[in-house]
Amino acid sequence: MQQSRDGTGTTPAISVQDVHFSYGSRPAVRGVSFDVARGEVLGFLGPNGAGKSTTIKMLTGQYRPAKGRIELLGEDLATHRSALQGRIGVCFEEKNLYPTLSGVEHLRFFARLHGVRDLDPGALLARVGLETRGRDRVAGYSKGMRQRLMIARALVNDPEVLILDEPSDGLDPVSAQAIRSVIREQAERGCAVLITTHDMWEADALADRVAFIHDGRLYALDTPERLKLAHGTRSARVRVRREDGAVDERVVELDGEDMGRRLAEATVGGELLTIHTDEATLEAVFVQMTGRGLT
Ligand code: ATP
Repeated sequence: MQQSRDGTGTTPAISVQDVHFSYGSRPAVRGVSFDVARGEVLGFLGPNGAGKSTTIKMLTGQYRPAKGRIELLGEDLATHRSALQGRIGVCFEEKNLYPTLSGVEHLRFFARLHGVRDLDPGALLARVGLETRGRDRVAGYSKGMRQRLMIARALVNDPEVLILDEPSDGLDPVSAQAIRSVIREQAERGCAVLITTHDMWEADALADRVAFIHDGRLYALDTPERLKLAHGTRSARVRVRREDGAVDERVVELDGEDMGRRLAEATVGGELLTIHTDEATLEAVFVQMTGRGLT
């Protein structure tokens, strides 16, 4: 077995080492490195134009990095691209579906392209909640249904690596949740998953680790919990009824020394009504580290 750079003997399913890419003279990705293990979901979080899609296009072999190296499943992508394509699943933002084909026909077509002979399109459509619409033409599908079909299509070859660009962007909460469940299922069966998103809630809920990307560079890569603990500040909103009957809301920082004293001071001169604690959000940490927001 190939040794990983950390010496544990486990080769990451995705290994990206110092990749760069420019559109003409304009750099879009400026030295990005990260690994994704089998069974892990890595969330690439960043605002529009951060370099997420460009990174993904390098990972899927559409763009060749100007510098750096990408390995998928232990193989160099630059030299093993065709062999690797059968082992990865990809879902891009652009919905390149054929309106006149049905859901089932799409899946059969992609299965043929991948040389998959034992596809059960009905079972795959059921996994994304489209079992009753499989015979309908895609022209009649809603945006959420098209997105679900795109995800199903990315799964036809039972991929070992799954790469998804903004998988639930613009979907209603039920469709978004359905797609997240499918992604988690894939990770649980050992697939390495990379998703891009500019939605901090999605990154927080879905990803085992989150990478902050801005202006073509990675600013952080860790679990959502550790990012929030290391860089965020927690606070409490204390509601107090003053002696004149009015209700005040006071915000108290919970991190740092003298937390008890600050909380006690917030209730001075009134009757304590409620205390709500607010965790730091990934967006607040993102702003702190990159100097800009996610929108
Ligand atoms: P979004 O969330 O809007 O999809 P992103 O993080 O995926 O953004 P990219 O699409 O990778 O960002 O864009 C990174 C940079 O490269 C941006 O400055 C963008 O304007 C530029 N860019 C992207 N595609 C092209 C292209 N085809 N030609 C020229 N510049 C491009």
